[in-house]
Amino acid sequence: MTDSHLLMVLVDALRHDQIDAGRTPFLWETARTGSLGATQEVLAGQLRPAFFAGLWPNESGVGHLFSYDPSSSPFRAARFVPPCVDRSPRAAWWVRRGLRAAASRIEARRGHRGSSAYCYLAEIPTSRLPLFAFSETELPWEDRTLPRPGLLRILSAQGIPWLHLGYPVIDQRTSFLTEAALSRMRGPHRMVFLHYAELDWVGHEHGPLGDRADSTLAAIDRSLEKVWRHAASLWPCARLLVFGDHGMVPVRGEVDVLRALRELPLRHGRDYAVFLDSTVARFWFLTPRARPLIVDLLAALPGGRWLTPADMDDLHLRGTRRENGEAFWLLDEGLVIMPSYFQREARPAGMHGYHPSVRDNWGAVVTADGSGPTHAVPLTEVFPLALGMLGLCPGTVLP
Ligand SMILES: [Zn+2]
Repeated sequence: MTDSHLLMVLVDALRHDQIDAGRTPFLWETARTGSLGATQEVLAGQLRPAFFAGLWPNESGVGHLFSYDPSSSPFRAARFVPPCVDRSPRAAWWVRRGLRAAASRIEARRGHRGSSAYCYLAEIPTSRLPLFAFSETELPWEDRTLPRPGLLRILSAQGIPWLHLGYPVIDQRTSFLTEAALSRMRGPHRMVFLHYAELDWVGHEHGPLGDRADSTLAAIDRSLEKVWRHAASLWPCARLLVFGDHGMVPVRGEVDVLRALRELPLRHGRDYAVFLDSTVARFWFLTPRARPLIVDLLAALPGGRWLTPADMDDLHLRGTRRENGEAFWLLDEGLVIMPSYFQREARPAGMHGYHPSVRDNWGAVVTADGSGPTHAVPLTEVFPLALGMLGLCPGTVLP
């Protein structure tokens, strides 16, 4: 058991019900002779602490992609940008390009190698950028700010060679990953991690059902078969774990939270702050009068609901740093916030980030040796599963 080798593969947005003999013959056969279960996404945009370290947002301190943190925002220079810039697409493009480059340098100087690499402005209005900072700042194998080490740091501490081919340091397109895996995997590696992202991109743009998603998935399936054959030729005891970090829900409608908020006699940045993720509006209340006005307004707005204290407990959000949000308004299945800070104009055709009870939001988890779950489990369960497949167990692995 202790000399087992693991090929651990994240297929971003691989739905639990997307594996069948027609589209994905390799995964289908693997699941048929091994195991097939489902993963339930953690309600956070940044999911690496969940699957690499088994941590929930209130344990890792990492939540959604952006946190409310004006004092350490790497975008503070945006305070000097005149408001008219966002109304001119050409000017905004140049200004935001400069802001992004500056923020990446700032993050690098702070030793934040993860956020320096992925540094991303999304569609956050330029005037609001100085309020927000990155929630996850480290690379997946650094994870020094987590309360316990994740898989890659555990392997390093044990002197076990591993290879990471994924976000945010490598091209995650299928053709590139296939080449990278075939040329860079070596016999001494005990664990290789691959992250295929194209299915997520296609799912957002074209939806999870239809020809584009099918052909993207079929190409990933062919790549996986090649890489797995290569792994089996390198390693005498090769094990395979493939998982989706979430599913993809067809979008059926939208909710305009910004327009609703404009009805209130409150000013953004002075009375409250909001971050509009695609499926959740996160709020911070800066004056006492803001909370009741906003709570009442959104309680009456169709399409979503406030998370209650019981929800916060269920979702392991209670006790998350204040920077991740004081109150969360979560959308119903299949609706998206439009405009949001991720989509300003074109409504996506597919989305994830819904309540874990939404089945289309469930990812898949497949093992070749049958050691994986055969039902739905939280995404945090991927971590102990991977450790077990490597013959390691949590808590006894750091020297
Ligand atoms: Zn996505």
